[in-house]
Amino acid sequence: MIPYGHQAISDQDIAAVVEVLRSDFLTQGPAVERFERALAEQCGAKHAVAVSSATAALHLAALAAGVGPGDTVWTSPVTFVASANCARYCGANVDFVDIDPITWNLSAGALEEKLARAAQRPKAIVAVHLGGLSCDMEPIARMARAHGSVVIEDASHAVGASVGGVPVGKNAHSDMTVFSFHPVKIVTTCEGGAITTNRDDLYERLVSLRTHGITRDPKRMVNPSHGSWYYEQLELGFNYRLSDVHAALGTSQLTRLEAFIARRNELAGEYQRRLAKLPLRWQQVPAGARSAYHLFLIRADWAAHGGQRAAFESMRAAGVGVNLHYIPVHLQPYYAQLGFRPGDFPEAEAYYREAMTLPLHVQMTEANLELIVGALKNILT
Ligand SMILES: *Cc1c(COP(=O)(O)O)cnc(C)c1O
Repeated sequence: MIPYGHQAISDQDIAAVVEVLRSDFLTQGPAVERFERALAEQCGAKHAVAVSSATAALHLAALAAGVGPGDTVWTSPVTFVASANCARYCGANVDFVDIDPITWNLSAGALEEKLARAAQRPKAIVAVHLGGLSCDMEPIARMARAHGSVVIEDASHAVGASVGGVPVGKNAHSDMTVFSFHPVKIVTTCEGGAITTNRDDLYERLVSLRTHGITRDPKRMVNPSHGSWYYEQLELGFNYRLSDVHAALGTSQLTRLEAFIARRNELAGEYQRRLAKLPLRWQQVPAGARSAYHLFLIRADWAAHGGQRAAFESMRAAGVGVNLHYIPVHLQPYYAQLGFRPGDFPEAEAYYREAMTLPLHVQMTEANLELIVGALKNILT
């Protein structure tokens, strides 16, 4: 089965991990800071904070944004559940903004309409860059600023993406950007995530919350130091640290980010060329934007070609590990129980009926492409 995503681990990656394993620090050593510097530099951001997963990163970003009980966080219904769950971890409510029918990202137009009739402004907006394509951040940020909402980019799919040459993660139109380094994503640390920000206040909160809310900085302490062993817990934080072993893998992977993105774009171009005559469409990348192509997403009228379920079965029977990103979050039983209903976000639901994720990863071959496109042709012609 050709998987929809797969990591690419080199001998250099393995050597970098082994080097840390032989060193004095498996965690809380220098490799984490090196990874953070490399990521911040890649994004052109002032700060990067490495954490144990993007889910942890979203939780910390929401806390740093001040999200708490009584607040509401808005996000896209077409995302992984973690983009919404971060608000629930903080005791806040979640609401969704429907997607754009062309980019399939959170729609700036739908956001404008929703803000106009909202009884309560969102405390934070989590803008998810579906498949690696940036949301239209400029208008989203402008509206968020006008309502005093914090903007968090969920760039779990989008490390290496850019808009007008400006990298995602630079926070040109946001307060914080979250990345995931799960193996299926673009670069991996096995498990891992990070937040970039240009704001010193948010950076300090994130670093504190990552390690139990503990400080060893005498300037931040409430009481005079008792001695060299002394530390203070100032707030309720977590152990969301990334280990040095994982960080070393991440730093090594980042050196190949540009090559990964180039290859992913090349494969996406090949798909578009080969699929051009079939009755299906793909995510439209606006002029000037560069998708990281974490996913190659297509939409087709499966109902007119034997049904969506049969199409997926037939692709899988042909050895193609297709997937569907994502089941709209508001339809998940957990969110339905909070009051969401089918029909609440019609564009997201229409997307779900038509979507399919084709395999896309840097080790894919010409023969893989042939097989995948052939299997799709069988269904759609
Ligand atoms: C993968 C993913 C996450 C969660 O990432 P983890 O590192 O596995 O916690 C969050 N949001 C989106 C959009 C994702 O795709």
